Amino acid sequence: MARPRGAKARADAVRRLLVEEYPEVCCALDHRNPYELLTATILSAQTTDVRVNMVTPALFARYPTPSDLAAADPADVEEIIKSTGFFRAKTRSIIGMAQAVESRFGGEVPSALEDLVTLPGTGRKTGNVVRAVAFGLPGLPVDTHVGRLSRRLKLTTEDDPVKVELDLNGLVPPEERGDFSLRLIEHGRRVCFARSPNCAGCVLAEVCPSAFTFERAAKTKAVNPANVKKTATKKAPVKKVVAPRQRPDAAPTAPLDPGG
Ligand code: SF4
Repeated sequence: MARPRGAKARADAVRRLLVEEYPEVCCALDHRNPYELLTATILSAQTTDVRVNMVTPALFARYPTPSDLAAADPADVEEIIKSTGFFRAKTRSIIGMAQAVESRFGGEVPSALEDLVTLPGTGRKTGNVVRAVAFGLPGLPVDTHVGRLSRRLKLTTEDDPVKVELDLNGLVPPEERGDFSLRLIEHGRRVCFARSPNCAGCVLAEVCPSAFTFERAAKTKAVNPANVKKTATKKAPVKKVVAPRQRPDAAPTAPLDPGG
């Protein structure tokens, strides 16, 4: 395949290739409705989806609706979600979220991003997860994988997740955005690692402007004389220069050059 020119053509090619590579993608957080997904996504900060899935069955059995969670005793919630880390802040967030859903949205998790981001513990990434996965609406969550891959694929030059999202929104059709994000996340976890991307095993290598540049950069660094000298200077043991013992019959040695 000829390397596509321009970000839009590249995004189309990436999307096609990732659909072939990961035909079925789904959110790894177990949930049955928007309330459960929103709660699980808030809990997933700084921990794994597997860990969240271990605590949410007990949490949702005890608090099956926003109204139940809104009235919860924080100590009880903390006990259930403790293993996800940051459990006091997360408890405040999910109880606050449930109270806001109850008081401002009639007990139903809203679907508009501008409403979602007003809920405690809910930023654009979490809001877009809920929109795309629970409601099937356009939403492109940008996490660390999506940001990194988008920059390597030259779909954006931005570091700020909100700006990355806006750039990608201009390249990906609305109905494809949620799955595009999930596929980039999957590819980031399996192939395009943060430190050493596996370009040789990557289905995007033929369209990726960054393909194999990491290996070249590593080799260049290794043969750079500045690096070699620096290493040698640092590691070489300091040799003492000892004047040879003068034999009585030897010609006198030249004095050591004080400048050398
Ligand atoms: S070719 Fe390399 S840098 Fe580009 S997406 Fe694949 S693994 Fe990442």
